[in-house]
Amino acid sequence: MKTAVLGAGLSGLSAGYYLLRRFGKPLTIYEALPRVGGWVRSENRKDGNFIFESGPRTIRPVGEAGANTLELVEELKLAVKPIPRSHVAARNRMLYAKGQLCLLPNGPKGLFGVLPPFTKPLYKALLRDLFTKSTPVKTGDESIYSFVERRFGKEIADYAISPMICGICAGNAQEISVRFLMEGLFEKEQKYGGVLKGTLYALFQNKEKDSKEGLFAQGQPKLYTQALQEKWAMYGLQGGLEILPRTMRKYLVERDVNVQLSNECRNLSFNSSGAQMTIKDAEVPVEHVVSALPAHKLAPLVKQQHPSLCAELLEIPYVDVVVVNLQFQGNLLKQDGFGLLVPPVEKLPILGVIFDSCCFDMGGNTILTVMMGGHWFEQWFGNRPSQKQILDLATSHVQKILQISEEPKFSRIHTLHKCIPQYTVGHKRRVESIRNYIKFFKLPLSLCGAAYDGVGINDVILSARRQVEAMQ
Ligand SMILES: Cc1cc2nc3c(=O)[nH]c(=O)nc-3n(C[C@H](O)[C@H](O)[C@H](O)COP(=O)(O)OP(=O)(O)OC[C@H]3O[C@@H](n4cnc5c(N)ncnc54)[C@H](O)[C@@H]3O)c2cc1C
Repeated sequence: MKTAVLGAGLSGLSAGYYLLRRFGKPLTIYEALPRVGGWVRSENRKDGNFIFESGPRTIRPVGEAGANTLELVEELKLAVKPIPRSHVAARNRMLYAKGQLCLLPNGPKGLFGVLPPFTKPLYKALLRDLFTKSTPVKTGDESIYSFVERRFGKEIADYAISPMICGICAGNAQEISVRFLMEGLFEKEQKYGGVLKGTLYALFQNKEKDSKEGLFAQGQPKLYTQALQEKWAMYGLQGGLEILPRTMRKYLVERDVNVQLSNECRNLSFNSSGAQMTIKDAEVPVEHVVSALPAHKLAPLVKQQHPSLCAELLEIPYVDVVVVNLQFQGNLLKQDGFGLLVPPVEKLPILGVIFDSCCFDMGGNTILTVMMGGHWFEQWFGNRPSQKQILDLATSHVQKILQISEEPKFSRIHTLHKCIPQYTVGHKRRVESIRNYIKFFKLPLSLCGAAYDGVGINDVILSARRQVEAMQ
């Protein structure tokens, strides 16, 4: 089967990898830019022995999606940099709220004390869930904020869930679907009348089953077993995460997969014998297309022939994020950890700061990444501030929050337009409806990538695998 993949971000390269494994060649991947990797971009500063990541930096080795990525990492023979659960970066996560840096509870002990910014011990939130009647949600979906507020109270919604959503997708918890992160808990509440009740019931019934076996016919990947044994909380890759897409490209090219860079797809239509792509100005026929493009990039390609598909794709919103990498000389952090998040109720222009130099060795420097914008991009950056204004904003907040008086020695600013899809209320149905449309019209088109089945690296790799496995 002659197949084309659109996009050479992590999902497109993964689709290429699984297509090759399942069907062999001929296979071509078309990428608009002169590089692979999409949002994954690592700048190795050999002069200072540190790395600036403008996109992802760590991967969680959790569940079947985590195991699946480790299988790929193992196959590519990449050197991993594990962060075990005992590491300070895994144990310490912070919030900046109510004018102070607050360490989040990281064990059962944290349940019983009053830890700022919370005004009550967290076990009270659990009791609230236990004694609050459940409200049937007739539409089958609600915002994660409203779910958490209903079950655990406003304080948990404001200071635990809202910043967590900022950290994962730079989104507003009041718009993001509960099914994005808490589908299981939501369903338990709807079925058993409470989150705790449902969880206990499932435990007694032993209903929490592990579905990884289905993925690995030859047994669990060795690296995943190692991650479990050594209790990794997360890991990075030697040389920065961009090594992953680069090595995938090399792997594919060495096996005669055609990876065409600077070859943007400009139109996509379907006929009785397959699909017709306009690549730059040439017409290219193929039997099947795997789109690993962001939904808003695929939408205009199908607009002419399938305007309603285009409209549904455009209903998946995206946010812009400003990423500022900062290098300070020496170790300036008073409190080590993974980083800090800022709850949106604080109304500050930053979403959070990642302490890269606490996660990985950065040559004795303090390396920080400041994330800004997201759902609130227009509010803070709508009037298009200069690079200097953005840098000043990021630096002044970091200096204030972390009590750093030094100026950064080196910095990078990236404004990432439409970089993270937002799984707003109704997302799951929207994706189902998009895929049903494709099925109904028998279009030789598969969709994978961050727009549909999860926004993290593990999700997009597994999304590609599942779509390829579902192909006839
Ligand atoms: C700031 C930031 C931090 C993140 N941090 C983490 C993290 O720490 N851990 C984690 O697990 N995940 C993280 N993520 C998420 C992770 O980066 C994404 O899940 C992943 O990179 C998405 O890959 P993708 O292939 O689906 O999409 P993309 O990376 O968007 O790739 C799509 C590709 O398609 C190409 N393209 C677009 N239009 C066309 C066209 N018409 N023709 C051909 N090619 C086209 C693009 O150039 C691009 O290369 C982060 C994301 C961001 C933005």
